[in-house]
Amino acid sequence: MSITSGHHFPRRWRSLLVSISLSCALMSAAVQAEPSQEAKWVTLGTGSGPLSFFGRGQSANLLRASGQLILVDAGDGATEELIRNGVVLDDVSTVFISHLHFDHTGGLFAFLGRRFQARQNSPITIYGPPGIKRTIDGLIAAMQPMNDAKGSKSVFAMLGDAKPGDNVKTIELADGSQVKIGDIRITTATNSHYVMSDEKGTGNHSFALRFDAPGRSIVYTGDTGPSEKVDKLAKGADLLVAEIMDADKELDRISRSGLKINFALAAVAKPILREHLVKEHLSPDDVGSMAQRAGVRALVLTHIALGPDEFEPARKRIAASYPGPTTFAQDGGAY
Ligand SMILES: [Zn+2]
Ligand SMILES: [Zn+2]
Repeated sequence: MSITSGHHFPRRWRSLLVSISLSCALMSAAVQAEPSQEAKWVTLGTGSGPLSFFGRGQSANLLRASGQLILVDAGDGATEELIRNGVVLDDVSTVFISHLHFDHTGGLFAFLGRRFQARQNSPITIYGPPGIKRTIDGLIAAMQPMNDAKGSKSVFAMLGDAKPGDNVKTIELADGSQVKIGDIRITTATNSHYVMSDEKGTGNHSFALRFDAPGRSIVYTGDTGPSEKVDKLAKGADLLVAEIMDADKELDRISRSGLKINFALAAVAKPILREHLVKEHLSPDDVGSMAQRAGVRALVLTHIALGPDEFEPARKRIAASYPGPTTFAQDGGAY
C-alpha cells in the first residue's frame, strides 16, 4: 500500500498520519454513540449572543443517539468543545443549524476547516434554513486558498488531491420538514425569532427542532419568542431544551457593554430593541408557560442570557407555571 495513493489509505490512518505530522495528536478516547444508549443532549456552548458570558461558549449542542453524533448549531467554540468531549470530528456526520445568526454559525469554519486539514472529511450533511447553502458555499470557497498553497512535497500533497468541498452536502429545509437520520426522526417548525424582521417576506426562517430517537424525544427551541408552533412541536416531549432571557436585564447589559450595538439604545431604537428581546426571545415566564402547555417531562435551559444571580428568581418564575425538573445547562453538560 502506497502512501501516495491517498484514497487507498484507510481514512483513520490518514487522519492519524496527518495529525502526527502536524504534531497535533487526536484525542485518544473517541466518543461513539452506541446504538443501545439512551439519547443524550450535550450542551457544548450555553451562552447567548452577541454579548459574551464568561464561562459560556456560543450556541452549540451535540445529540448522541442511536449510533449517531449530530451537531445542532455551531457557534464559536463548538469544535474545541467537541474535541474536549472526546469526539473525533469525522464521526459527526450530520449538522443541523437552527438559524443564521452568527452566535449559532460562527464555529462552522473551524469545524469544516479542521476536518479538512486533518483529512477527517468523511461525508457530512449540513441541514439548515434557506441561506445555509450560501453560507457553506462561502466557507468552502474561503478554505481554498490554504489548499492552493500546498507544495508538491507537503504532507497534504502526499495524501491526494482532496478539495475542501469534498463530501460536504448542504440541504435547506422548510417549515414542517422531516428528516430521517438512522432511526432518529427530525421535524422542523418555524418559530417566532424573526417575527419582526420577516415582515417584508425576506424568507428568513428560524427553526425549532424535534428529535424523536428510539425511547426519547428531545425538542430544541433554537432562538424563539413565544410560539404556538413550538408549543405544538414540543407536545409530550421527554426533554425541552429552551433558550432563556430577561429582556430588561439584557438591555442593561447591552447599555453597559460598550459594544457598537449601543447605537440601538438611541431614543428611537431602544423600544425596537426591547420589542425584539420580548417578542423574539423567551422570558422565564414564557419558558414556564411553554413547558407547561407542551407537557414536557423535563426542562433544560441554554442560550442563557442571565447572570448567575438571576438564576434563582428565574427558576421561581418558571415554577409558577411549570412544576417539572428544571436545569440551567453548563458547557459540556449532558442531559
Ligand atoms: Zn442566538
Ligand atoms: Zn438568533
